[in-house]
Amino acid sequence: MSASVFVINAGSSSLKYQLVAVDSGEALASGLIERIGETTGRAMHQVPGRDDVVEQRVITDHAHAFGWVLRQFDAHGPDLDEAQLIGIGHRVVQGGARFDRAVLIDDDVAQQIDDLAPLAPLHNPANLQGIRSARATFPGFPHVAVFDTAFHLTIPPAAHRYAIDERVAADHRIRKYGFHGTSHQFVSRRMAELLGKPLEQVNTILLHLGNGASATAVRGGESIETSMGMTPLAGLVMGTRSGDIDPGVIFHLHRTAGMSIDEIDTLLNKRSGLLGLTGTGDMRDVQQAADAGIPRAVEALEIVAHRLRGTVGAYLAHLGRTDAIAFTAGIGENSPAVRTAALSGLEGLGIVIDPERNAGRGERCISAAGSAIEVWVVPTDEELEIARQVAALVG
Ligand code: AMP
Repeated sequence: MSASVFVINAGSSSLKYQLVAVDSGEALASGLIERIGETTGRAMHQVPGRDDVVEQRVITDHAHAFGWVLRQFDAHGPDLDEAQLIGIGHRVVQGGARFDRAVLIDDDVAQQIDDLAPLAPLHNPANLQGIRSARATFPGFPHVAVFDTAFHLTIPPAAHRYAIDERVAADHRIRKYGFHGTSHQFVSRRMAELLGKPLEQVNTILLHLGNGASATAVRGGESIETSMGMTPLAGLVMGTRSGDIDPGVIFHLHRTAGMSIDEIDTLLNKRSGLLGLTGTGDMRDVQQAADAGIPRAVEALEIVAHRLRGTVGAYLAHLGRTDAIAFTAGIGENSPAVRTAALSGLEGLGIVIDPERNAGRGERCISAAGSAIEVWVVPTDEELEIARQVAALVG
């Protein structure tokens, strides 16, 4: 068996993990613990080819959760020694302007992740909690932080700076950071392989469309523009997030509707996007409703597509020359209708989807033979990308 990496994604009340074989990319085991710290928790451990272990139980904190995970590996496998575990990879959401790549975690790095908490108050403290518990659970192993923002630190100032008072921006570290970097990096590399060209010569537009959604323009393997901003609220229409709106809306809601900042935060992050437009944040349900002719679902898809098309158009301009557009994540990989809608009307710019290829499944080219810019579906694998980055650092 080749080396493996234990990949951890810790949320404030959840813990997701995967044991990844680095060479094959295979998931040797995975699991999810939910509602940590609540009165009813749920824990699941999955090993391919075996029955899932699912338990309803109280899980008091992340340390308790890791104890449960270790017991599952002992009882149900796979054996971590046999799996040749070489390190632990931690997904960390916000790496600020400091972390442009994955790093070995020591006390200083942990402190810096903590210092970045004001920029990602819902995520970094939870990621750090996971890191602390995991370091106690796996003391003999190197722990590596892989940042969602790192891939985007190549975005030039013209694209990452906001046109606000420079002192205010500097004092509060306000700029575009971008997110989904691990996914965009994985897909951009894969896209170069699929085109059979060196990464340095390939320009791509990547559309990561899941519950969260972001677009990135990649020139020669480097992110030069992305749609999320200082926070993951900016850009495309998402499951429950609004994406771009006029910031003036926030002042208006506060002054005129009497909403507090927290209420507006909840409105834009949790009650907007597809959910706000249609009553459901799940794209499958929206499509079903649109297929049944329900007007607000039809219109929601038009809004999603309009935003996507405008973003693709802008990125074509930023890149100058584009080799390929790649769709990934839950919606990007599985919805022919969203892909068609997003790129419809761009035939004059050399982007032509082939309906039959678009209707297929799996990793494939979906553009027509004569399309000047190729269009692809490339399934993302963030855990594998994290595992590879850990292996590159510690291997
Ligand atoms: P993710 O966050 O990557 O897991 O993506 C979740 C989103 O993908 C949800 O909005 C799902 O409704 C959507 N999704 C998954 N499968 C399909 C499908 N076959 N057609 C349309 N949307 C899908």
